[in-house]
Amino acid sequence: MSNAILVVGGGFSGLTAALEAAEVGYDVFIVEKSPFLGGRVAQLNKYFPKLCPPSCGLEIQFQRIKKNPKIKFFTQATVSSVKGSAGDYTVKVHIEPRRTAPNSADLGLLASSLSGETDNDFDFNLTKRKALYLSAPFAFPSRYVLDTDTLSKEDQIRVAKSAFVNLNEACRDIELSVGSIILATGWKPYDVTRLANLGSGAAPNCISNMQMERLASPHGPTGGRIKRPADGAEPKNIAFVQCAGSRDQNHLNFCSYICCMASLKQAAYVREQYPNARVTVYYIDLRTPGRYENFRKKITCDDRIHLVKGKVAGLEAAANGDVIVEVEDAVKGEKRKIKHDLVVLATGMQPSLAADANPYGVTLDADGFIVDGEDKGIFAAGCAKQPLDVMRSAQSGTSAALKAIQTVRGR
Ligand code: SF4
Repeated sequence: MSNAILVVGGGFSGLTAALEAAEVGYDVFIVEKSPFLGGRVAQLNKYFPKLCPPSCGLEIQFQRIKKNPKIKFFTQATVSSVKGSAGDYTVKVHIEPRRTAPNSADLGLLASSLSGETDNDFDFNLTKRKALYLSAPFAFPSRYVLDTDTLSKEDQIRVAKSAFVNLNEACRDIELSVGSIILATGWKPYDVTRLANLGSGAAPNCISNMQMERLASPHGPTGGRIKRPADGAEPKNIAFVQCAGSRDQNHLNFCSYICCMASLKQAAYVREQYPNARVTVYYIDLRTPGRYENFRKKITCDDRIHLVKGKVAGLEAAANGDVIVEVEDAVKGEKRKIKHDLVVLATGMQPSLAADANPYGVTLDADGFIVDGEDKGIFAAGCAKQPLDVMRSAQSGTSAALKAIQTVRGR
């Protein structure tokens, strides 16, 4: 039997669960598949409810983890098998090599001297990154990663000379004994290329809401200035297309919960930067639950933000880089085509576990959310369970930690 708890996923709900359990004395292991902790929140410009930058909430969590010897975390790590039962699990974890020394010197100069580049998935491919990289200035752990697939031959010779790089570091497989498992495996944005009715998101100045977060972030591709990706022009007439993939039985057959609030927040980003810009939000229903209703009222009293109730039936690129939105206006009862210079798709949340391996034996519903596992001492947290905002994800992490503690205590 083991009193330790495994948390799979190092996003906001996973970090909260890990801290809650460790701070009352339980050993916790965090297994995170990416090289850095922080999850989706790290990619945002600001998040609800206080509209803080991600560094604000995450840095506190990172400090608490650094100070707590009860928490051990593994990045670039995935669970390959789970054996046993509640109270007594043996978990195999596969860890990819980071290939840089712990507590190493700043490798920024070496990184910038490299020639090979690949799409930067942290910026949702709006930028390129080098083979040696950190995701963000406040990335945790603050330790570069070397991705050998992106190394050119010249780059390989250059990095091999560094005392802080180990090109021969191999992957590892370790075994953990834990009594309970928390699955905080998070979500990914719905793939816009599947939205054929919206031009598969291919119009050059059509972006997703998560790309908008990166554009607005001071650590993003444009240093926080919102610009059209195709030509760098400042947008003056921006559209948000709600439910892009959500509430559609051919895509995500549920409401993603956060995207109405995200678009209103992003409309505010635009209006702060461009006092003369005009924003149009095309929506089916505007869902701003609970106290978020006050936020909706505050944003929509701006007379340059327009709400149009109607389903967007199509998007097409115009010759000058603008995007033509075809909307079935539900109030006027007519189909209209309206040109915008930037279009943001409010893409929904897809649970990550739906596409990943599921060695835990938990049942997923038709949409990929975890629906059971509690009888096994395996608990879902955050958006692995249902679409949630950051605050509710944290609450869900706390709840999962309490259940995991009850399992390892044998209650
Ligand atoms: Fe659509 Fe809003 Fe629900 Fe997102 S939150 S799926 S945009 S209704």
